[in-house]
Amino acid sequence: MVNRRKFLQGSVFSLISASVSFPLKGKSGRKVSGNAPARPVVAATWDNRNATEAGMKVLLNGGSALDAVEAGARIPEGDPEDTSVGFGGYPDREGRVTLDACIMDEKGNAGAVTYLQHIKHPISVARKVMEKTPHVMLTGDGALQFALEQGFEKENLLTDHAEKVWKEWASEERVKPGNHDTIGILALDDKGNICGACSTSGLAFKMPGRVGDSPIIGAGMYVDNEIGGACATGVGELVMKIVGSYMIVEMMRQGNSPLQACRLAVERIIRKYPEIKKNGDTQVGFLALNKQGEVGGYSVRKDYSIAVSEQTRTYLINPDFHIR
Ligand code: ASP
Repeated sequence: MVNRRKFLQGSVFSLISASVSFPLKGKSGRKVSGNAPARPVVAATWDNRNATEAGMKVLLNGGSALDAVEAGARIPEGDPEDTSVGFGGYPDREGRVTLDACIMDEKGNAGAVTYLQHIKHPISVARKVMEKTPHVMLTGDGALQFALEQGFEKENLLTDHAEKVWKEWASEERVKPGNHDTIGILALDDKGNICGACSTSGLAFKMPGRVGDSPIIGAGMYVDNEIGGACATGVGELVMKIVGSYMIVEMMRQGNSPLQACRLAVERIIRKYPEIKKNGDTQVGFLALNKQGEVGGYSVRKDYSIAVSEQTRTYLINPDFHIR
């Protein structure tokens, strides 16, 4: 999402700081603080406004929060210009596009796929894993076989652009992973149900076989319908080691706002892995949504963003961050 970041820097859209607290009235007339859109609400990591809008459209047409997060995640998955999710994602070191995704519903059901190749919409395969199998996660060839059995089409996901960039990267013999980002998306529907989804092609030019946080329930995304949901983007190794999304939901259970809970997760990463302060590239960003419809986020470094769609408007939040 290099393009997305560049776009953000010159964006004409106003960015609202998530650290700013302001009173809003919910549908019930109750006063709540923070960014608290009335439900339904859909929120996603990065400038995925087209995804949150797609999710909101589903909700406004009577669809469930689960339908909404799936529809939202499918937007960047199907976009060849998005080089970090689905079709068009940058490949691993050997030129293979391998995809990771997970989904969770309000009943606590979960599905995930990892190291899935050739299928454009891993989020929909993850949903099938949740709905049609007794398992939570399928990986690699088994996930592909299941997807084909379910009627998904086998496609070449390596676009000319991604192949060119990968070849350039390979010729320069870089060892560090390249660009990365993820869509994590959460929706709260009119009935008060929260669902979440997460989808990525992972770190660009990653080691073959590498799987990040995004398809790991509790790390890349977690939902508990009593409390709310959370999801993550950034260096998955860090998110996995603190089980980031689960931690955030539990912090909200203890009374923290989404913003506070996300900040606590970032602070834990920095406390446990202080060496990341020296690596200017290391980014982790969290997003959380609670049952009241409050959205919050926090990141290790600047330049993280969150898209939010409410019933009548869509906007970007530029969350506060730790390392200045
Ligand atoms: N979290 C993803 C991964 O580690 C990448 C990202 O969001 O930037 O695979």
